[in-house]
Amino acid sequence: MDSDLTIIGAGVVGLAIAAKLSERFKNVFVIEKHHLFGQETSSRNSEVIHAGIYYPKGSLKAKLCVEGKKKLYEFCDEYELPYSNCGKVIVATSKDEEPALDLILCKAKNNGVDDLRFLNQDEIAELEPNIKATKALFSPSTGIIESHSFMKQLETIAVNNGVQMVYHTEVLDLSKIDTGYNILLKEADGTSFSFTAKRVINSAGLESDTISRLLGIDRPELKLHFCKGQYFRINPPKNKLLNRLVYPVPDPNMVALGIHVTVDLSKGVKLGPDATYLDSNEYDYKVDPLKQKVFHESVKRFLPWLEFDDLSPEMAGLRPKLQGLGDEVRDFYIEEETEKGFPSFVNLIGIESPGLTASLAIADHVNNLLE
Ligand SMILES: Cc1cc2nc3c(=O)[nH]c(=O)nc-3n(C[C@H](O)[C@H](O)[C@H](O)COP(=O)(O)OP(=O)(O)OC[C@H]3O[C@@H](n4cnc5c(N)ncnc54)[C@H](O)[C@@H]3O)c2cc1C
Repeated sequence: MDSDLTIIGAGVVGLAIAAKLSERFKNVFVIEKHHLFGQETSSRNSEVIHAGIYYPKGSLKAKLCVEGKKKLYEFCDEYELPYSNCGKVIVATSKDEEPALDLILCKAKNNGVDDLRFLNQDEIAELEPNIKATKALFSPSTGIIESHSFMKQLETIAVNNGVQMVYHTEVLDLSKIDTGYNILLKEADGTSFSFTAKRVINSAGLESDTISRLLGIDRPELKLHFCKGQYFRINPPKNKLLNRLVYPVPDPNMVALGIHVTVDLSKGVKLGPDATYLDSNEYDYKVDPLKQKVFHESVKRFLPWLEFDDLSPEMAGLRPKLQGLGDEVRDFYIEEETEKGFPSFVNLIGIESPGLTASLAIADHVNNLLE
């Protein structure tokens, strides 16, 4: 066999798995179609270290987010990576919204996040003097990270453990053979060749359902729906009016967390992401300028000083969602597929938020699945 373990995709999840599993397996390859790691969803997100508040009790999202958050802070300290444990304020802007905060507090406790607390008006004024809220919850363990540095460090660990990063190479097909898997690869110059692996991890993000289908695991419930998340920047000098993450109460169906304020480590402030399902799964990263009005309207209730012209289009990312439009919330799908006839093949499908926060815990989970 050409490799003991082949990982498809060098997003944050594939890299975290490569860093972890290369402690145990020798001949490890990461196959990535782009020229560098993290060119898709892993570099088009809010870079928030989520506390683990909102996800259904007992879900992988809840468990791996809470574990991953702790590991991520420790990892950043160990490797001196940039981050800020700035905390987040969740605001109710009317009496009607206040019961939703009680529910969030309760949900967080169920997930083992027991550090949330209500802020009184003096505390709101001290933390975020420029927001309007009738009531607010504070999540002290939420933070922000610089995802590129994090991914670079994961790649360095993997490479130091002997992992071969194979960039500019796309997985075109894969099939089961007696001793493992045969993978058809295409290089940048268009030449294709076969490669064999004893074990395969499918962490191909937006293409993970396609990879699974190519192998023969073709289930309607594993089909991904691209859901675009767009951002608008708050132009200077008004970006200075906000210090940390500020969220409204989320949509009841949890498609997204509601258009919120995201700060980054270079003091940039953006609003977003929204949640727009795409009709077909196309790589459409355009920010629709017409959305500016929707964004402005949606945050005006807690940022009353924000004018329409204070916003500019920033960027967009695509969520790989198992939850279709109007469907119930879905969990991450992370399975070792022996039961479906594919031993030592691990599928990771629907790794939307909090995939960045959870990445180190996802890697441990995959390691356990391959025990
Ligand atoms: C708008 C938005 C905001 C978000 N905000 C947050 C947040 O604040 N906090 C948080 O924790 N999470 C957040 N997330 C989620 C987080 O970004 C993802 O969960 C995470 O980046 C997923 O990483 P990944 O490695 O699974 O996927 P990707 O980053 O998509 O990586 C998959 C890789 O596989 C490669 N690939 C695909 N097909 C092939 C093929 N055939 N051959 C070779 N390579 C292939 C791709 O090129 C890609 O590099 C957000 C997501 C979005 C869209």
